[in-house]
Amino acid sequence: MSALVCPKCGSANVININMTMETEAPVAFYSCHSCEHRWWFKDGEPIDLGEVLTLAKRMPRRSARRS
Ligand SMILES: [Zn+2]
Repeated sequence: MSALVCPKCGSANVININMTMETEAPVAFYSCHSCEHRWWFKDGEPIDLGEVLTLAKRMPRRSARRS
């Protein structure tokens, strides 16, 4: 049932890590053990690393404040 196949080498030896950015955007990270190809998905769409870093950088500035 694993549809996880590396788009580069076709190996099924792929790991998947799901993350949620501070912006609450769910991002899925995939990494191939065979060729070390890495790729990302957000909302079911492939995105590149630059976009991921942009999302990660866009963290809200306000630190948790308690009142
Ligand atoms: Zn691969």
